[in-house]
Amino acid sequence: MKKTIILHSMPKFLSLLLFLALGYTQAQTPEKLNSSEIYQEIKKLNFLGSVLYVGAHPDDENTRLISYFENKKKARVAYLSLTRGDGGQNLIGPELREKLGLIRTQELLAARKIDGGEQIFTRANDFGYSKTPEETLQIWDKDKVLSDVVLAIRKFKPDVIINRFDHRSPGSTHGHHTSSAMLSLRAFELAAKPTAYPEQLKYTSVFQPKRVFFNTSYWFYGSREAFEKADKSEMLSFDVGVYFPELGLSNSEIAAISRSQHQSQGFGSTGTRGQVNEYLELIRGDMPERDVFEGIDTSWSRLEGGKEIGEILGRVESDFDFLNPSQSLPQLMKAYKLIRELKNEHWREVKSQHIKEIIVACSGLFLEAVATRPSATGGEQVPLELEAINRSSFPIQLTSVELSPNNSQVQVNKTLDNNQPWTEELLLRLPDNIKNTSPYWLRDMSTNGMYKVSSPELIGKPETPLQTLANFNVDFDGTEIAIERPIIHKFNDAVFGETYRPFMIIPKASVSFEKDVEIFEKSESRSISVIVTAGKDSLKGSLRLEAGKNWKILPAETSFKINQKGGTAIRTFEIIPPDEQDQSLIKPIAKVEGEEYSDELIQIDYKHIPLQNLVMPAKLKAVRIKIQKKGEYIGYIEGAGDVVPQSLAQIGYRVEYLEPEEISSESLKKFDAVVTGIRAYNVAEDLKYQQNDLLDYVRNGGNLIVQYNTSRGLIVDNPAPYPLEISRDRVTDEKAPVSFLAKEHPVLNKPNKITEKDFSNWVQERGLYFPNRWSEEFVPILSMNDKGEEPTQGSLLVAKYGKGYFIYTGLSFFRQFPEGVPGAYRLFANMVSIGKNE
Ligand SMILES: [Zn+2]
Repeated sequence: MKKTIILHSMPKFLSLLLFLALGYTQAQTPEKLNSSEIYQEIKKLNFLGSVLYVGAHPDDENTRLISYFENKKKARVAYLSLTRGDGGQNLIGPELREKLGLIRTQELLAARKIDGGEQIFTRANDFGYSKTPEETLQIWDKDKVLSDVVLAIRKFKPDVIINRFDHRSPGSTHGHHTSSAMLSLRAFELAAKPTAYPEQLKYTSVFQPKRVFFNTSYWFYGSREAFEKADKSEMLSFDVGVYFPELGLSNSEIAAISRSQHQSQGFGSTGTRGQVNEYLELIRGDMPERDVFEGIDTSWSRLEGGKEIGEILGRVESDFDFLNPSQSLPQLMKAYKLIRELKNEHWREVKSQHIKEIIVACSGLFLEAVATRPSATGGEQVPLELEAINRSSFPIQLTSVELSPNNSQVQVNKTLDNNQPWTEELLLRLPDNIKNTSPYWLRDMSTNGMYKVSSPELIGKPETPLQTLANFNVDFDGTEIAIERPIIHKFNDAVFGETYRPFMIIPKASVSFEKDVEIFEKSESRSISVIVTAGKDSLKGSLRLEAGKNWKILPAETSFKINQKGGTAIRTFEIIPPDEQDQSLIKPIAKVEGEEYSDELIQIDYKHIPLQNLVMPAKLKAVRIKIQKKGEYIGYIEGAGDVVPQSLAQIGYRVEYLEPEEISSESLKKFDAVVTGIRAYNVAEDLKYQQNDLLDYVRNGGNLIVQYNTSRGLIVDNPAPYPLEISRDRVTDEKAPVSFLAKEHPVLNKPNKITEKDFSNWVQERGLYFPNRWSEEFVPILSMNDKGEEPTQGSLLVAKYGKGYFIYTGLSFFRQFPEGVPGAYRLFANMVSIGKNE
């Protein structure tokens, strides 16, 4: 899907910040460092200290602190986000759940590109709101998440850990938050013990960080005044509002640009200037006087064999020639050779990668491998265009180029003279069994709380390592250095100019449905279309659908032929549902040359992140609901955005969107019910002028159903005709038992008899922002609660008003409908039918 989002020009300094300490990630516009940026990288090369920042979600991280440690202290910084933020809402498009997690992963990487940090994850899934760490750690596989935090410490080897949250305050914030701090502390104790998760020691080594801090602030104390009075003897505080003349930016300005990458969360931030303090409260280790790294040698001397490297690179830093950085190359080559001989494997790898890219930048060396097409399938031969150019007088020879995945090597042996380009065309032959380009954590079926990752070496990585690479073997005056570049695709866009895209491996055939859920409220058959997309030219084969045994599908099989790669064929099937309530996943299977293809190819395209390819099983959830309805015409007043109207249309209601200005007691008469969208009384400003008309409509026999609103920022004093107070009560356990307070009430009996069964298979939560006080005109219908809490009785309240009915509900119909939860539909149909049963 194409998004029309304006490309904002990348800030100039962008390229400076952490480039490639971990090598290239997914293909993006290549970094081209200027002298000032190279100088910053040399300073970072000479600092050997690291910080791990720990939180639970994309956006928990303090970009100001990350940027401060990266750009002021020159430390290595990583943000460990336990989850990818899959459970949130999306402000920029329709993607939710795993697709949203993918967008947020890339937003974090975009943020890190700016503040300079690296990014790490665990396998934990952001399953939705959780009140306590106990609940969180039950839904997550606690041991696996802890193991992943231990692994992050062992691999990144931070001297200092900084927790975003307080491990001592369960219940005061999201359960994921407190859990992140608790797990971080536990991992601090375990990471150095060889008996803890010994299987990890096959590919990493034990490590003991020196200190753990909690990144506290007034927010955790309730107010600035309370924080001012707090005992700060165990806190370090320092000014992070520093100015970087070499960048022309303050640290807070960098932090704001970084935070603004969280576009799907709407976290656009404006930078500030001037002094601003951060506070770190010591949790483990000894209290330093001034600096988090106190007592830790952060110079090259911390390594055996490092002293000499430090001396050489110290001179490189002090003698750096901003007009001719290539003057540093002889000394950099010397240091490179010594770094390769370091016994400490961790720093050897980290610093080798880093100095390599500094050497490349100092010589103005540009290396690129471009695939002439954006995507290909297994077995395909892809033409590549290679370019190498040296922009210095340093003697450089291109020895050979190796192409992955086949590791075919091409000898070149060409001297790269100053500013004389070398180009070559090569063919990349993709293996037949090459994996599709898709996030590794979505390859296997996940559970509610955890992603499944079958290859342990992938755990923690922000994205799937690229399979298609070009390795340039370059001789720098006698020293051979292998420089890895991703194979990318690029083209000239008439508006945006040179445009880089990842080169993708896609399936030969992909299949998809137009909808995710199809609801059959009658036993009549319905036509369903399947789209087949060709990943290669002249694709032909057969197509069939697989469904549960109670479902009939016609025809049993059909054929298709698509001439061109990218072309589609649409085939229609009749689906005949069973008579009884039932549901089934319907799976399309395209058979091409004896191979079966059942995956959908999804591409997510936003300007602030690289194009994302996602290959997932295509499926349609078909749901047969036994449902009776009285009344059929619904007026819907939109709130913050939900798909309730489309869902009601699926079960046969006629739904008309109502703009607030169209509302009058006259215009509402024709509706059997008027429904307000989620948070309509928070966001639909104009609704306040129409509140009297809405209540008149009810008084004259209408039926008004109000879905959840938050108590803060209500546009009217009370959306109800009688006193009602909205609270923050919510029931987050979607399986929480529900008991019936008003068993005989029509809303539980007519026209559908609601039973316990109607509350099974709910998703994510029961509901939120339930009222906790109401006047006696309201009849509370249901009672429910999360484990260990008092029952809430405000999830569904019905009041007779005049000749009509007013219903207030915090039940999360907006989450249940898109998942086709039958009980939610049946209960809602009763709400619409109320007053029409007699
Ligand atoms: Zn959070």
